[in-house]
Amino acid sequence: MSAAGEAAPRTGPARPGTEKVTPSAAPRHAVPQQRSWLAQIQPYRPGRPAGTRDGSMASNENPLGPSQSALTAAHRSLATMHRYPQPLADDLRLRLAEFHRVTPDQILVGNGSDELIFLLALAYLAGGGVAACADPPYQMDAISSLVVGGAVIRVPLQDWRHDLGSMARTRADLLYVCNPHNPTGTTHSATRIEQLVDQTADQSLVVVDEAYIDFVDDVEATSAIRLAADGRAVVLRTFSKIYALAGLRIGYLVAHRDVVAVLRSVRAPFSVNQIAQRTAVAAIADRAHWSRAREYVRVGRQRLTQMLDEAGYAVVPSQANFVLALVPDEEHFVEHLARYGVSVRPGSVLGVPGAVRITVPSEPGFDLLAAALAEIRWNDRRG
Ligand SMILES: *Cc1c(COP(=O)(O)O)cnc(C)c1O
Repeated sequence: MSAAGEAAPRTGPARPGTEKVTPSAAPRHAVPQQRSWLAQIQPYRPGRPAGTRDGSMASNENPLGPSQSALTAAHRSLATMHRYPQPLADDLRLRLAEFHRVTPDQILVGNGSDELIFLLALAYLAGGGVAACADPPYQMDAISSLVVGGAVIRVPLQDWRHDLGSMARTRADLLYVCNPHNPTGTTHSATRIEQLVDQTADQSLVVVDEAYIDFVDDVEATSAIRLAADGRAVVLRTFSKIYALAGLRIGYLVAHRDVVAVLRSVRAPFSVNQIAQRTAVAAIADRAHWSRAREYVRVGRQRLTQMLDEAGYAVVPSQANFVLALVPDEEHFVEHLARYGVSVRPGSVLGVPGAVRITVPSEPGFDLLAAALAEIRWNDRRG
């Protein structure tokens, strides 16, 4: 990322993985000024790695891991890594089209849904467009808009949910709705989103990010996929969450074929590697694994909510694979959990100070968390 950092000389020989780069005050060559609007961007801040394998609760990953058939497909795909991947992930695209009952030209596969979010910004915001999103937003929606020189209107949440009424009154080229929302886990019904689409059809493209849709109680009544099939909205999906392929970087969108055609014209042709493509084909076919992960998370978030509630923390009712807990002393809470090998995402990083976002963990992860919470309560009682 940082050209200045890369250009700096290294201090002596280094073992792989231990290189230290000395930051230099100025690049060695004269370089043009960065585009002025980039100065306002707060770079994405990822979750801290946990001190233990099972303590990872900061990044909404799937603690069950990928399906066995997905792993097998990944292994098999290694033998042909000297070949370029299919530019448009045709095998996967055809499966996804069948799966969602749309035409293949309504699907675009990306290097994670994050790539697709950037393509949308390039196509619909670059050079002065306006994006509206919730406040706090999913970080990438705001970052991608600012990167391309677009403006961002942040519409405060109402009772932790998107204020769709206020969003409908915003004049924006792109309207981002994260459903369920990250970092709150709250949802709106598909009917309510359809109203938003109808109210803004003459000026805005509504983008519904459904990264967590597989975990909601009633997928049918919540998902906007029907609107995407009709070409009236864009729906983003990912293999990072329920399919547990976050490390492979693969996601997709469903939209009107004209929207897909525009995005195709600005994308890099080989952004999605073939291991990811083949693994995703196998992952989506394994419906038993999908059901297992869904049930695990639905039971797990109840349990997580109850544990936090019993420890004295209010929790925003969640439909995702994480919960947002309100903790008066956020920093102390995060540090305390870290001592038990548990990493959670501090709310201040996500635009909700005084809260933490905790992912439904593995079974051993629950034990680590329980131990940490018991000790917090004990300390509180003493104080
Ligand atoms: C995790 C997440 C994604 C997935 O991003 P990928 O780039 O596909 O890994 C997308 N949107 C939201 C809101 C998320 O939380």
